[in-house]
Amino acid sequence: MDVDQRLLDAAVDQMERRWPAGEQAGAAAVYLSDGSILTSVCLDNINPGVVLCHEVGALCQAYTQNAIVVASGCAGRDEGSAQLHVYAPCGVCQERLALWVPDVQVGVSDPASASGWSSRSLRDVNPHYWAARFGSDGGWPSLTQHTS
Ligand SMILES: [Zn+2]
Repeated sequence: MDVDQRLLDAAVDQMERRWPAGEQAGAAAVYLSDGSILTSVCLDNINPGVVLCHEVGALCQAYTQNAIVVASGCAGRDEGSAQLHVYAPCGVCQERLALWVPDVQVGVSDPASASGWSSRSLRDVNPHYWAARFGSDGGWPSLTQHTS
């Protein structure tokens, strides 16, 4: 399942419920394999070492439910602007998403696209995934391999 406008709209709805207009803000939304959506926002802190990305809450909810994440989109805006941006997952969130193997779709900024973003597989975003060495067939480790 690709990242689509419905998923990004869910992230933006979550962002707008959490932060007033004009503030720097963002949120993430993930599709589960049954088509349902989970959303979350980052956990800010004065200590930047403990801040959590927008995606983390939804990924933890999915894992808690033993659900399969098939797509993840993150959207946000800068302070004083209503312009929305789509953010590719950071390197750490790519590691978190790798739990659900490389076919997970993620939203990325894409200036060549009319919308300004596109949906790509995690494998496309991270073609030289370090842990592929540990996959049973030389490919990406399975969910079971990631969690055992
Ligand atoms: Zn992240």
